[in-house]
Amino acid sequence: MTDRKDELAANLAKVEERIAAACAAAGRRREEVTLIVVTKTYPASDVRILAELGVRHVAENRDQDAAPKAAECADLPLTWHFVGQLQTNKVRSVVGYADLVQSVDRSRLVTALSKEAVRAGREIGCLIQVALDAGESGRGERGGVAPGGIEELADRVAAAEGLRLAGLMTVAPLTGEYAGRERAAFERLMDLSTHLRGSHPAANMVSAGMSADLERAVAAGATHVRVGSAVLGVRARLG
Ligand SMILES: *Cc1c(COP(=O)(O)O)cnc(C)c1O
Repeated sequence: MTDRKDELAANLAKVEERIAAACAAAGRRREEVTLIVVTKTYPASDVRILAELGVRHVAENRDQDAAPKAAECADLPLTWHFVGQLQTNKVRSVVGYADLVQSVDRSRLVTALSKEAVRAGREIGCLIQVALDAGESGRGERGGVAPGGIEELADRVAAAEGLRLAGLMTVAPLTGEYAGRERAAFERLMDLSTHLRGSHPAANMVSAGMSADLERAVAAGATHVRVGSAVLGVRARLG
């Protein structure tokens, strides 16, 4: 366990250095960027160590793994983010532990989240997941709504009881015009955020950037980076 703590501390220090350097290069203050550690596929014991090391934001993408982990870690001062594709039949469970859902991408999900948040007496922060590679369907391969669908969905979240519109999230596309152009993708997300804040000024979170591309996200103006493997190690199975 001590070894694992040393390992995670060293990895966190490296990620912290990268974020600090990216902020400096972009002329941004370090406090403008929040690190969210994506703990998917890793055990509750790792989450506990991360909390001891000062991590305050964690993210998960599968309810089956996240629900028991969050229950085991309920005593820790952590904010839990849900970042995976979310089926409406999992919403009741997710609302039980998640403080923010970053993967809101359809109105049926907004309705379900609102209903369960009210039922649980909780307020859930919602980010609209933007699919910059959305095709004709208006939806991305890995979830998300096309840029043209943001406004309607944002209005629905803002009007929904139990929900708070927090901002926008994206995953850099692997296909389409932004494939291999993470910086451009993240800049597009920033433009969309600027537009959204015109009508919803408090929706100022911009969640972008992972282990491989966090510098490009910070350069583009991201407020939150979601880092998994650079902190915890390369995942054994697909998460
Ligand atoms: C897994 C995951 C991450 C973290 O990815 P790494 O490459 O391990 O840093 C970030 N965002 C989402 C939505 C994820 O599913």
